[in-house]
Amino acid sequence: MIFLNSLLDFAGHPEDLMSESEKTYTNGEITVVWKPGVCIHSAKCVQGLGEVFNVNARPWINMEGAGTERIIQQVGQCPSGALSYFRNEKIAKATR
Ligand code: SF4
Repeated sequence: MIFLNSLLDFAGHPEDLMSESEKTYTNGEITVVWKPGVCIHSAKCVQGLGEVFNVNARPWINMEGAGTERIIQQVGQCPSGALSYFRNEKIAKATR
């Protein structure tokens, strides 16, 4: 993994220095949750879907970079569980 990180110049996510235990990103349909303290910097997300997961961008997760189902698919491949998601409609229904 160290080699892979070096290869990608992937020293860490830009939001790593923030103290929040999780950050959220939404496209209206779903919300992606990222837990910096759980992330192991495998770069699977960056490699798999760079249009959404880009450590050089701010914010580093661009929810407009791909369709909802593709983002869900990539989130499911996070090896550490740092990435997760929920569908916003469930929350909207629950608050009615
Ligand atoms: S795939 Fe998961 S563990 Fe790997 S860099 Fe992305 S968020 Fe971190």
